[in-house]
Amino acid sequence: MVDDLYQEIIIDHSKRPRNFHDMEDANRKAEGYNPLCGDKLKLYLRIEGDMVKDASFVGAGCAISTASASLMTESLKGKSRAEALKLLDRFHELLTTDSPVSQELGKLVVFCGVRDYPARVKCATLAWHTLKSALENKEEPVTTE
Ligand code: ZN
Repeated sequence: MVDDLYQEIIIDHSKRPRNFHDMEDANRKAEGYNPLCGDKLKLYLRIEGDMVKDASFVGAGCAISTASASLMTESLKGKSRAEALKLLDRFHELLTTDSPVSQELGKLVVFCGVRDYPARVKCATLAWHTLKSALENKEEPVTTE
């Protein structure tokens, strides 16, 4: 069952999140908060030229929000700003529409089941809202509301 495999990947990333640490030489930072669930995260990016060289996060949240931030930071490395924003759009489509799954999503496709649980969509998109704010370099914390 593909759903079971997806579930396993989400559980793995929530228990052992990748890129889960502060970043001293980050040149972009943003904080995100999802009041519906209590998920909080701080995202760090190191951007050189137009390229995301490194991405990491810290925070506390539910399994979905942690796994989403973990997989997002993995997916971002080596992407240009425009590619990162495009991925954000694809991810949002995956969670909020019935459109066919885009190949560009790679591993992020594991979140496709979340579209059946509207209350969890904000958990899955929190890291991505925070990414947008980091790329736009806004100082205020973002919320999903
Ligand atoms: Zn959550």
